[in-house]
Amino acid sequence: MLNHTDTIVAAATPPGEGGIGIIRLSGKRAEEFLNRFFRPLRASALRESHRLCLGDFHDVQGDFIDEVMAVLMRAPRSYTVEDVVEVHCHGGRVIMRRIIDTFLDGGARLAAPGEFTLRAFLNGRLDLAKAEAVIDLIRSRSDSARRVAASQLHGSVSRSVGELNDKIADLLSQVEALIDFPEEDIEFADQNIFLSSATALLNRIEIFLTHFDSGRILREGLSVLILGKPNVGKSSLLNLLLGESRAIVTDIPGTTRDTIEENLVIGGIPLRLVDTAGVRETDDFIEAQGVARAREKIASADLVLLVLDASQPVDHNDYLALQACSGCRVLLVLNKADLPVVPLDARFTFLPSVPLSARSGFGVDLLKQALVGFFSGGVSGDVAQDVIFSDCRHRDALVRCQGALGHFRAALSGGLSPEFLALDLRDALQALGEITGETTPDHILDRIFSRFCIGK
Ligand code: GDP
Repeated sequence: MLNHTDTIVAAATPPGEGGIGIIRLSGKRAEEFLNRFFRPLRASALRESHRLCLGDFHDVQGDFIDEVMAVLMRAPRSYTVEDVVEVHCHGGRVIMRRIIDTFLDGGARLAAPGEFTLRAFLNGRLDLAKAEAVIDLIRSRSDSARRVAASQLHGSVSRSVGELNDKIADLLSQVEALIDFPEEDIEFADQNIFLSSATALLNRIEIFLTHFDSGRILREGLSVLILGKPNVGKSSLLNLLLGESRAIVTDIPGTTRDTIEENLVIGGIPLRLVDTAGVRETDDFIEAQGVARAREKIASADLVLLVLDASQPVDHNDYLALQACSGCRVLLVLNKADLPVVPLDARFTFLPSVPLSARSGFGVDLLKQALVGFFSGGVSGDVAQDVIFSDCRHRDALVRCQGALGHFRAALSGGLSPEFLALDLRDALQALGEITGETTPDHILDRIFSRFCIGK
């Protein structure tokens, strides 16, 4: 576990050249370090909190490193609720490295990934759901994803969890009041009130879970697998969608030996496109590995684009590919529509399909529309606005809360004593507390914050 009392330092801007680079410090000695290495142009300037001032930065030996702007944000009015210092230098690797090294020489410690946000969480500035929203906001790959993360940072998850929490705690206190009178059965009227409260809570959770999938897709991207036997045009399709040539396109079957994953945004929906080696019977070892991996990927994809060469009659390998995606959502892409096409085999006609020429680009708009349609379930309008939960960790906690409440309802109907009912409600509260961080075990916290970048 990290020491939370020392003063930490890290680059807050990404490495590489830039107009400015920002180095951030947080902790009790931040002000002391700044005063030691920074000489403001106006001597009195730094005494004021939250004021950016110009000056020179020197290393431990007193050698001038760069002309910088520095700001001190005194506790508790800072991101971490501790004294925070930012040094805005010229954005160059060596300059930033030297300034960080100077602080390290002076006694600061290099921050671990997410440690600034961890401190903000530990010091009560953010709950866990909001802290997680920070990283989602930074990583969001579409504007819809950004909006969901931004509203989570503003407390949409925390408020929803808080409301559920208050209602369950209220129910618990009513149930606990009955524990003092063990000889009496729960009165019919009470039982009915409890039942309807539990049902209302379960309905609420159900709504959150219904919108979760859209949230997860906005957050992680819709995973779309491009599948088909060799030479039907999978790589060409991938390239067409990407608008650039990354995958190698050739006439020799089986050159796309492994899976290639690419990220793009279509109609506001982030997509993760996966191209695979064709699914077919093969003796080739490398290709066989690719096939096995393709099968794994098929199972985890949100949607499979099954590509056929529409100019050729389907064969056994196309049919194998079709069989490989049984149980998955499939959109058939009838490629090479620029060539004379043959009628589609009856075994494929039950699938939704779009004609396409990956070579000429014909049909690509229809394909994009179909992809967006798959995401929104055909509903037009703003899917993001109904999303509150988008993180699998939160979904799992909600499902556990739902299970505990379901158990409570069954126990109530089964006439179990209030002690048992109280246990279920406590389980439900425990699950909710993991979302906002009140009951989250340390090793989970470590895992969450280690996903962050250094300097955040
Ligand atoms: P993959 O093995 O499924 O990835 O197929 P490729 O994308 O490598 O394409 C195989 C061959 O089909 C290449 O020669 C492409 O130029 C050609 N091809 C791909 N799409 C089309 C298309 O829409 N029309 C025509 N006429 N040829 C295509």
